[in-house]
Amino acid sequence: MSDLEETLVLVKPDGVARQLTGEVLRRIEAKGYEIVDLKMVTASRELLDSHYEEHQGKPFFEPLVEFMQSGPVVAVRVAGNGVIAGFRSLAGTTDPTSAAPGTIRGDLGRDWGLKVQQNLVHGSDSPESAARELALWFA
Ligand code: GDP
Ligand code: MG
Repeated sequence: MSDLEETLVLVKPDGVARQLTGEVLRRIEAKGYEIVDLKMVTASRELLDSHYEEHQGKPFFEPLVEFMQSGPVVAVRVAGNGVIAGFRSLAGTTDPTSAAPGTIRGDLGRDWGLKVQQNLVHGSDSPESAARELALWFA
C-alpha cells in the first residue's frame, strides 16, 4: 500500500484550449484520486521560472515558458495513495508521439513534430517537487 500523497497537476494551455480539462479531471477521478483544490491561472513569468527551475539553461526552456504563458492553465491539487508516481503513469511519457496508448498524452496528445512542450499536462515528479510546486501554485 502506497502512502497518501498530494501532487500538483497542471492542465497546460494546449489542454485548456482544446477543451480537454474535463477529460483530464475525469481520468483523475476515475482512478479514485481526490481533487482537493483547483483554479484557472494565467501564470506569470516569475511563477514559471520557479516552477521549471530545474530546466533553466536548457534549449527548450524559453519556448516552454513562453508556451506556458500563452493561455490559462488549470492547476489542480490532487490527493491519493501513491498519486505522485500514479499521476505520472496516467500522463504517460513526456513526448506524446511515443507515449503509450491508454495514457493522457498517448491518447490525446497530438504529433505536432517539434512542439514537444505541447503535451497537455504536468505532474510533479517526486515528493520534494510536489511539496515545492504545491507551495508555488497554491500559496
Ligand atoms: P515532464 O516531467 O514529463 O513534464 O518532462 P520534463 O520535466 O523533462 O520537461 C518539462 C516540460 O518541458 C515537458 O513536459 C515538455 O513540455 C517540455 N520539454 C521537455 N523536453 C523537451 C524537448 O526536448 N523539447 C521541447 N520543445 N520541450 C520539451
Ligand atoms: Mg518534469
